[in-house]
Amino acid sequence: MKCKRCKKPAVVGLPSHHTAFCEECFYVYFTRQVETAIRRQKMFTFDERILVALSGGKDSLTLMLALHELGYDVAGLHIDLGIYESSVRARAKVESFCEQHGLTLQVLEMEAEGLPMPDVKEHINRPVCSVCGKVKRHYFNKIAREGNFDALATGHNLDDEVARLFANTLRWDSGYLSDQGPTLPAAEGFVRKVKPLYRLSEFETANYAFLRGIEIHSDPCPFASGASFTSHKELIGELEHRSPGSKFQFYDGFLKRGREAFKMLEKEVGEELSPCEDCGSPTSVEICGVCRVKRAVRDKKAAAAQ
Ligand code: AMP
Ligand code: ZN
Repeated sequence: MKCKRCKKPAVVGLPSHHTAFCEECFYVYFTRQVETAIRRQKMFTFDERILVALSGGKDSLTLMLALHELGYDVAGLHIDLGIYESSVRARAKVESFCEQHGLTLQVLEMEAEGLPMPDVKEHINRPVCSVCGKVKRHYFNKIAREGNFDALATGHNLDDEVARLFANTLRWDSGYLSDQGPTLPAAEGFVRKVKPLYRLSEFETANYAFLRGIEIHSDPCPFASGASFTSHKELIGELEHRSPGSKFQFYDGFLKRGREAFKMLEKEVGEELSPCEDCGSPTSVEICGVCRVKRAVRDKKAAAAQ
């Protein structure tokens, strides 16, 4: 197979785009997809400061490198979840990546916040993955606000977004469907959230990370029973195999024609928010969900120690 742009031997084949690229041209293609995402979805400008959430995985490190090389003003945030060796290794990957590229990094330890995930798993009677996701989103927003960042960027790729959309559509969850998308504008107490890799598949981000020699943390989380939406991703993969390009069409069509309809349906709802009494984050009750989990962990640990 030859590269579509320069006719050299191709190293990455992209059936969904009926194309293939050599290494250099793949980087050009990849970067253009990121630029298109930022421009079309009005994510941020060169004057704004972007906080990039870095897990140590291929997507977030790839995103950070692409934004940095495009000239955006980026800083990294890593949440150390305190999950034994796994978290130690993930953190080390993020730290050495940022050091290698001269990037600013802030690490927030859940142990110091009273929320290490092993304690959450032991003391909170809810699926640890959903609490962990909530805790991460809470701190992404809190740190971005405290640091006066204009936007918070995550490494979610097309496959993540399509799997989520598919799950939300199966349930016709109009609440989630109304605010799913690559850009979530800022609102009272909430920083703007963006996903600049939404046009790129997991295969593409994995190839980019590999070809660029990015050292990634790829071990699965010891607490997760499997990657989220695994069975949906399999079904969607089968669909994409039979009909290349359908994944992107499904998502892009939703952004162009579906989302607005759900927004109209949901616009009446909307709760009054006020600052959490413990941490100041916006919440519809007195103490926000994360602070309630924190209190429960603290109380149950104290009771268990007696
Ligand atoms: P996941 O939900 O694990 O697929 O992660 C989605 C995105 O959330 C990643 O691409 C990162 O941008 C961000 N993220 C996940 N875990 C962490 C973490 N421990 N610290 C910072 N960012 C994270
Ligand atoms: Zn709180």
